[in-house]
Amino acid sequence: MEWTTPVRFVPLIGPKLASLLERLEIYTAGDLLLHLPFRYEDFSLNSTISRLQEGEKVTVKGTVIEAKNEYRRSRFNLQKIKIADDTGEINATWFNQPFLIKTLSVGTQVALAGKITRFGTSLQIENPECEILQPDKPLLHTGGLIPVYPETAGISSKRLRSRIRFLLDTNLVNEYLPDSVLNENNLTILSEALKNVHFPANLDQVTISRSRLAFDELFILALRSCIQRKEWERQKTRTPFTIDEFKLQQFISSLPFVLTNAQKKTIEEIMTDFKKSTPMNRLVEGDVGSGKTIVAAIAIFVAHLNGQESIYMAPTEILAEQHFKTLHKYFAPSHIKVGIQTGSNKSSKLTVRSSQIDVLVGTHALLEKNVQLDNVGLVIIDEQHRFGVAQRTLLREKGKVPHFLTMTATPIPRTMALTVYGDLDLSVIDEMPKGRIPIKTWVVPPAKRKGAYEWIQKQMTDGKGQQAFIICPFIEPSESLMTVKAVTEEYKVLSENIFPNLKLGLLHGRMSSKEKDRILEEFREGKFNILVSTPVVEVGIDIPKATIMVIEASERFGLAQLHQLRGRVGRSNIQSYCLLFTSEGIGNTQRLKSMEKTQSGMELAEMDMKIRGSGQLYGTAQHGRSLLRIAQDADGTLFTQAKIAADKYFTHDQTLIHAPALKERVLSGTIGQVAPD
Ligand code: ADP
Ligand code: MG
Repeated sequence: MEWTTPVRFVPLIGPKLASLLERLEIYTAGDLLLHLPFRYEDFSLNSTISRLQEGEKVTVKGTVIEAKNEYRRSRFNLQKIKIADDTGEINATWFNQPFLIKTLSVGTQVALAGKITRFGTSLQIENPECEILQPDKPLLHTGGLIPVYPETAGISSKRLRSRIRFLLDTNLVNEYLPDSVLNENNLTILSEALKNVHFPANLDQVTISRSRLAFDELFILALRSCIQRKEWERQKTRTPFTIDEFKLQQFISSLPFVLTNAQKKTIEEIMTDFKKSTPMNRLVEGDVGSGKTIVAAIAIFVAHLNGQESIYMAPTEILAEQHFKTLHKYFAPSHIKVGIQTGSNKSSKLTVRSSQIDVLVGTHALLEKNVQLDNVGLVIIDEQHRFGVAQRTLLREKGKVPHFLTMTATPIPRTMALTVYGDLDLSVIDEMPKGRIPIKTWVVPPAKRKGAYEWIQKQMTDGKGQQAFIICPFIEPSESLMTVKAVTEEYKVLSENIFPNLKLGLLHGRMSSKEKDRILEEFREGKFNILVSTPVVEVGIDIPKATIMVIEASERFGLAQLHQLRGRVGRSNIQSYCLLFTSEGIGNTQRLKSMEKTQSGMELAEMDMKIRGSGQLYGTAQHGRSLLRIAQDADGTLFTQAKIAADKYFTHDQTLIHAPALKERVLSGTIGQVAPD
């Protein structure tokens, strides 16, 4: 048996359990070992019967001296056993588990773990974990810190424990990190880390082990980036662009605004890349509304001056249309021909050729065969995380080693970006154009909800034609039918009871993209006042009249995510508002209150990373399978440590020839697999 052995071949796991495990994204023996407990039940206090005390959580061992099923008239039946050790006797009871008694005949040696309660004058254990003692076998469910795993129907922690213990005992885990990396980073060896994270002697062991495993995830990601960067740099086949400073400045001064310093700096970085013979591979990170489109336009302009075409890919049709219009406006005076290719527009059936256009804007429809541009020098991808690696590769092939520019509004703290996207160069637009009015933000407790609705009603009907979003959270990690049901019900309540005289629309992720686009278009045209939606509301969508953003159960969202949602409003010169509704009894709202204080997405993302871990920045809802499974509660320090370690190792072993086992992990991607989003 090996790390990569399919899980169905693991003893005690048949095809049936294997298919259940797939729901937990467990495919191999290694995946199962990396399915870590999210908490531990503390049954480490071992006691003899005579010393038991009411209220204690303990493990107690003894021999069964009585065992019976008691059937009652009610729906309940009761299982009762009595066990004894040298010091005394105690009763244990369960409800509705008649099968238990079959295995607990008189004379059986057992360990029981649970809470001691009083029953009349004597003590008892109610509903304990129960484990039959077997010679030479360590305890699994009692007698220590007992792992509790993320479960799914049909897979209890109890079932997982025995399988995981089995794997740990087969010694299939070989250390794959080189000694130098282990020593310099003070890491526990892998087999120890795995044993101790599943069956720890104390909680310190858990911390140490988790941090080793999180390190692995980040280290491998960082190493993979090093390799990708090297590969990228090998393509030294471009003729460098020349930059016509005069024409460039002329174009910039024709714009209706002055560029911010952050925009200027990013443009300079792009121009420096253009002048090299290695193609650019750059990530531009800039908050919603920081003005990334114009940066893209300037890059396109320069590519055009160098006689090369550009491709500009957006995640949705609406955004593609928006970019198309914007570019058209900027480029009309320079006679640069802009084309559009989306799934639904009519011309998309026709083959697009170089003679017709200079820039082609579109959605993933751009990847189809009927785009035949033979001189693509620049590929730009907006909201980069939405596109899979395969699509990115395909696009890259459309051009002959084109420059590559990706853009995202997701605020990824620098430490994280450098590790996770280490193969890309990074530009950050960390400054907003002047004159933006900060969005007034309030955390609204349940008691003030009614008042808030009245206030919204008043705003909506004051004749300025303002509009509002009301966002209901995903109920499950991804948008399931349950979420759709909840948002549909909320929509009903809002339109019938709360805002009977306003027009409301409904949007959720289970609608077809055509339907979604239609509803957003109607909202933009002002056909309704309020759009009730799940968090699918597109990043980058521009509805200037939308000035109020209401977020239900806002405590369920990460700050970065709240910030993204808030960014749907505040896109005009009218004061905008964001109301963060909270649920009953959530206690401390300090985290949410930081939304009231800052408008900086990056600041909020960094705060989130500190408070809730990096995983929050990659909510599975948006990005499919999560990129960081174990490292998701890691903070910036571990990211930096892993990055430095990977860089260092890579400088003296670029082909990983001295660490074959590590190489296999890096190439196969068992740990820290890149999300196929
Ligand atoms: P995003 O970074 O979210 O893609 P956009 O590129 O859509 O942002 O820009 C948002 C708005 O800001 C647009 O209307 C754009 O014309 C405007 N804008 C961009 N740069 C500046 C600037 N330097 N000064 C003023 N307005 C700007
Ligand atoms: Mg944009």
